[in-house]
Amino acid sequence: MAASVTSTSASQVRIVARIRPVLDSENDTDVVVSVSPKANSVSMPNPKNEKEKFTFPFHAVYGMESDQAQIFAEVSPTLKHLFKGNDVTIFAYGVTGSGKTHTMKGNKAAAERGIIPRLLTAIYRRGKDLEKKSDGRVTMSAIMSYYEIYNDKVFDLFEAPEKRTLAGLPLREQNGKTHVVGLMEKEISTLKEFEMLYDKANSNRSTSATRLNAHSSRSHAIICVRVEIHDQQTGETKVGTVSCIDLAGSEDNRRTANDKERMVESASINKSLFVLSQCVEAMSKKQSRIPYRESKMTRILSLGQNNGMTVMILNLAPTKKFHQDTLSALNFANRAK
Ligand code: ADP
Ligand code: MG
Repeated sequence: MAASVTSTSASQVRIVARIRPVLDSENDTDVVVSVSPKANSVSMPNPKNEKEKFTFPFHAVYGMESDQAQIFAEVSPTLKHLFKGNDVTIFAYGVTGSGKTHTMKGNKAAAERGIIPRLLTAIYRRGKDLEKKSDGRVTMSAIMSYYEIYNDKVFDLFEAPEKRTLAGLPLREQNGKTHVVGLMEKEISTLKEFEMLYDKANSNRSTSATRLNAHSSRSHAIICVRVEIHDQQTGETKVGTVSCIDLAGSEDNRRTANDKERMVESASINKSLFVLSQCVEAMSKKQSRIPYRESKMTRILSLGQNNGMTVMILNLAPTKKFHQDTLSALNFANRAK
């Protein structure tokens, strides 16, 4: 059978959109964004001229009724790349209030769990399967780190907030790779262990944001799980990492910012999101030069260097209040394609 060349499922970069439902605090009559999961497109009027309509195509589009299991099915193909020893990145992009954290982390109830806990469940299941099938010859270990990037500084989310230094953690280059010096790595042997660490780190995230008089929506939260598959017979070890990134809100706060601190925050967010879009675009177009060294986040991720698969989820809020920022977000994601 001839190999298919243009199948989207074989594509290394997937850019998909998910619109969240109208919240109790919002009105159905304020909805301005419409999605067509069948046509894989999102449409909305020009906020400056309601008669003009924009339509954006994506690799896949998930409507208001889409659930967490469907979104997980979108990213689960990354697992085979991870277990082959490649890097996988999953981004949630969108304005504050569009559903990024819901998509990535979700809630405790089983049906509401987001991508990250589901991914970890799947990783352990696969690891157990490998062990069983090989009679214990093949073993898996999973090592986790969790940090945030705020104002271009790296903070360890496993570190207690009061122990943070304002300077953040330094980076160091070693064998062509960028390391965050002093970042804690925790081996996690069970899902329970993962959940405890994850919850603790998430509470560190909100506490430290409060201490800095900032908001957690102004930082990128990056969870990284390194999966090592060791074959005792051949002595071979395959190492792949999956990074899940709950990005800072994409809204342009420079329009409304009135103090210096917010301006600095915004400039640093804009720059890192801009570099990210350039990297994703270069990867989508299979260009050999990916400008991943141009921002701290893409540098630490070594984005595109040992790449198996990247999924960018564009989260959309449906109502008028977000109209201009939603248009910017759609343009952003569309450019990255
Ligand atoms: P962000 O992280 O982008 O700021 P959140 O994930 O906090 O946005 O979502 C904003 C609000 O919308 C939250 O109250 C969240 O529970 C709700 N929400 C987001 N996505 C969904 C969804 N798919 N279904 C139901 N509620 C959602
Ligand atoms: Mg959030």
